[in-house]
Amino acid sequence: MGALIPPRADQGLGGGYHSPQVHVSVRLNTNESPYPPPPGWVEALAREVAGVPFNRYPDRGAHALREGLAELHGVRPDQVFVANGSNEVLQTLLLAYGGPGRSAAVFEPTYALHSHIARLTGTAVAVGERAPDFLLDPVEVKRVITESEPAVTFVCSPNNPTGRSEPAGAVAGVVELAPGLVVVDEAYGQFSPRSALELVGDDVPLAVVRTYSKTWAMAAARLGYLVGPAPVVAALESRALPYHLDAVKQLAGRLALRYRPEMEARVAAIAAERDRLAGALAALDVECWPSDANFLLFRPLGAPARRVWQGLLDRSVLVRDCSAWPRLDGCLRVTVGTPEEDDTFLAALAEVL
Ligand code: PMP
Repeated sequence: MGALIPPRADQGLGGGYHSPQVHVSVRLNTNESPYPPPPGWVEALAREVAGVPFNRYPDRGAHALREGLAELHGVRPDQVFVANGSNEVLQTLLLAYGGPGRSAAVFEPTYALHSHIARLTGTAVAVGERAPDFLLDPVEVKRVITESEPAVTFVCSPNNPTGRSEPAGAVAGVVELAPGLVVVDEAYGQFSPRSALELVGDDVPLAVVRTYSKTWAMAAARLGYLVGPAPVVAALESRALPYHLDAVKQLAGRLALRYRPEMEARVAAIAAERDRLAGALAALDVECWPSDANFLLFRPLGAPARRVWQGLLDRSVLVRDCSAWPRLDGCLRVTVGTPEEDDTFLAALAEVL
């Protein structure tokens, strides 16, 4: 019997990307919706799940779901790729367009999984810096793109964990410069007044990634998608595992689209609550950045961030500790919750500070 061959040495992957899942009364650490999907959706799903032929593999092409998403965004179904969460969309993108000998550009601080999945797939990571206001700096974008000629350039808008979306024209500017595919991660897209979706076309090297996890209030379903050129979608299809999207998930995603007005009302309510929360934070001893998403990045001024995070946890409020992340010294990120959850957070924060 041979010895167990150890896993391949990790190339600076670190411990992965995790937020602690501890038991607390107020959970504001992973940018989920504080509200569940509409009861009508739950009932429709339960009814239709009863009719799923579970002995058969699901529709491999997820046709009905892709048709629904295509209609939602005014594109063709062959311009839509669906996967198990937008993280799997990103992984499939990097399997197709990244890999050894290629690089992906990211502009930090940004969503950690872009560089993490790049490294997982053997793709080199070219790191650029954001401007001090955390938006893209066109001069820096040009420098990174010229120096590293990335096969994939990531733009996160609204950017996680800093919150702002790129101004009009910024994404088109990156597409102009980039030699390869520009991927705009719009996980929080419906919270923002701007989207790169309108730029998508078969002859434009641009793909927009969205998720059901946040605005659709369906994080448990693990469903995300990409809208982009048909040849890009075909390349991703060829890298996805056979039947990677189960029948219940396809059904869940398709039925959710019937509840778009409810989604939009929920997003509007969360955005209004975000603005209230930002106003309340402004009155405390913290620095807080403007946000077009369902979370706020803030920096306690009078106390170390780690102690504030622990103080909140001691009061059963969990936020995200970003203070050890590069370029986010002393920062915490709070997800917008229900008004009651946010009041509990604000009271706990005032006490800790
Ligand atoms: N992109 C961004 C910017 C995110 O913040 C997240 C979730 N935190 C994701 C993608 C992944 O979301 P999911 O895999 O749940 O679709």
